Amino acid sequence: MLPVEGPPLHDGAVVVRDGAIVAVGPSATVEAAHPGLPVRDLSGRTLLPGLVDAHCHTEWALLPLDRPASSFGAWLSDFLPRRARMEEDDHALAAGLAALALTLAGTTTVADNGPTGAGIAALEAAGLRGVVHLETFGAPAGPAADEAARTFERRVEALAERAGRRVTVGLSPHAPYTVGPDHWAALAARPGLSGRPWSTHLAESADELRLMREGDGPLFEAYEPMGFVPPRWDGAPAAGTVARLAAAGALRQGLLAAHCVEVGDAEIAAMAKAGVAAVHCPLSNLGLGCGRMPLRALREGGVTVGLGSDSPASGGTYDLRAEARAAAAMHGAETDPGDLLALATIEGARALGLDGSIGSITPGKRADLIAVAPPEGTEDPVAAVLAAAASVDLVMVDGETLAEGGETLHLDREKTLTRAAGARRRLC
Ligand SMILES: [Zn+2]
Repeated sequence: MLPVEGPPLHDGAVVVRDGAIVAVGPSATVEAAHPGLPVRDLSGRTLLPGLVDAHCHTEWALLPLDRPASSFGAWLSDFLPRRARMEEDDHALAAGLAALALTLAGTTTVADNGPTGAGIAALEAAGLRGVVHLETFGAPAGPAADEAARTFERRVEALAERAGRRVTVGLSPHAPYTVGPDHWAALAARPGLSGRPWSTHLAESADELRLMREGDGPLFEAYEPMGFVPPRWDGAPAAGTVARLAAAGALRQGLLAAHCVEVGDAEIAAMAKAGVAAVHCPLSNLGLGCGRMPLRALREGGVTVGLGSDSPASGGTYDLRAEARAAAAMHGAETDPGDLLALATIEGARALGLDGSIGSITPGKRADLIAVAPPEGTEDPVAAVLAAAASVDLVMVDGETLAEGGETLHLDREKTLTRAAGARRRLC
């Protein structure tokens, strides 16, 4: 057992009652203290906390990246027209496909971001825990920004009413290059939005930096033909994205900021001070040629960092163990398997503000657990569960089994895959 907060247990046991973890320890001790309970024998497998995907897009599951992009701007110019071809039903279909993949990959908590909120129903249907951030775009100014924020608040509140027991609804001002400072501030001023979870994309690429500094370049060219003029944020000529948001008072406690590749030391300090958490999406960064997050500097600078799969549109596979392996290749000796497992569990939970209830096998937390069958011959038990040859064998949320032996209990795998294959042919 890998409790994550605490050393590995070779022969461990966990007691689950009413969806919560009530005891953890060596199996002989735990069984003696809790006699007569039904026992589920997971011999030969490794039990660990369910994985926490701190940034993904379930609605882009039908738009896979065919080949690595030459730059972020080039990718965006290709992606935007494909995305525009999606019909209303495609969003629900994509979110359902993503929920299937996430469940089978051992993710139990999902921070989703999307334009329609289709992830809510999809996560609920799968039985997953999550936060669905409804995306907003645009650069209205003055009274138009207030009106846009009021309208958006109504949409978020309507979605929140439909969210069930394990899903909450937040918002995602998509990125500083698509959401202007007035709109951002107007969203923060709405009482029905300010207390909800916030997520965004921050300092992802050199192209974003160019737009923030010069007001032109590939991102400007990608959006301009669509009639959208990317907004400007004030700041010193050399200032980066985070510095400009900090100066505008737009950084906020608990903001989940995906990517954070183009950040300097002063910006890392500003993020730590404001309580902004970063989400590392290594496969996406590789797929779009976006460079490398300064992972060690962020963590040493006091910024919580989680791991995210982004989406197939940028090269992710909704598989956090694959993201951990990509991070290992990207950062070399800067990380070890224990660090990577922490990013995928307790640190992701902390980034979402949920570390009091999930992210480790600890009494009092929810019983979000997965069992992984490790490959033969790997000595380090943490490296073994992250290995490509390992397989996720059991997935539980609140002690309820969602998948076992590669089969999902709530989702119809064959039907989802067949319908998705048809939609993908139409969209690609
Ligand atoms: Zn993203």
